[in-house]
Amino acid sequence: MRKPFVAGNWKMFKTVSEARHLVSELVPGLGAISDVEKALCPPYTTLLAVAALLEGTDIGLGAQNMYWEQSGAFTGEIAPAMVAELCQFVILGHSERRAYFGETDETVNRKVRAALAHDLTPIVCVGETLAENEAGRTAEVVSRQVQEGLADLTDGRELQEESAASLVIAYEPVWAIGTGKAATSEGANAVIADVVRPALAGVFSQSFAQAVRVLYGGSVKGDNAAEYFSQPDIDGALVGGASLNAVNFTQIVQAAVP
Ligand code: PEP
Repeated sequence: MRKPFVAGNWKMFKTVSEARHLVSELVPGLGAISDVEKALCPPYTTLLAVAALLEGTDIGLGAQNMYWEQSGAFTGEIAPAMVAELCQFVILGHSERRAYFGETDETVNRKVRAALAHDLTPIVCVGETLAENEAGRTAEVVSRQVQEGLADLTDGRELQEESAASLVIAYEPVWAIGTGKAATSEGANAVIADVVRPALAGVFSQSFAQAVRVLYGGSVKGDNAAEYFSQPDIDGALVGGASLNAVNFTQIVQAAVP
């Protein structure tokens, strides 16, 4: 039984005071929704303030990225232990990081291993671009991202079926992110069932692949969320734009109640 999970990716939005305001709007509504795991992933500069406001709630906290080295002369980077001090989750390999900041399957893999070694649950993003989709390369691209992004995880800790909750995958077709052009729920479910889970089974085992939560991401809103969550292989959502509005995000989390 995979517990539904909805995470909000705030991207590069919200100052500390704006973040405090949004969290104060979110906590009463989200706190009243049980049976769904939820997390907020605000910018680094707001993590400390948001962590304080989330204390005592069942709402998790995540960062949007991190570096894989422990410490050192890496100006501008954030180490795994710094994230782990405040967060339970970290988004890795988001398509915006792959497109604008040179992230590759190899760097994503290093980050995933570092996250697991620090008891952080990585939310690993995979998804094809519009050109790849139109060229019929979705399966090849997504399968490679899963296999290479999750290769050789043994220096963190072995991932067994019992520890399936320590990894989350987000299937986010790049052409659907922030565009308003969401994938159909059947189409997203098919990629997860026919590509993501088989690729996970190849890296780990069939039982692990069935136990890991796989989210859909890409223009999920209050009015289309339920349709995604009704699909058998979609276990929740990674929400960008709509997570910046308390009413919309709460509506999405509510739609994920089984
Ligand atoms: C995202 O940033 O991961 C995302 C899915 O964005 P949006 O919901 O705005 O498409």
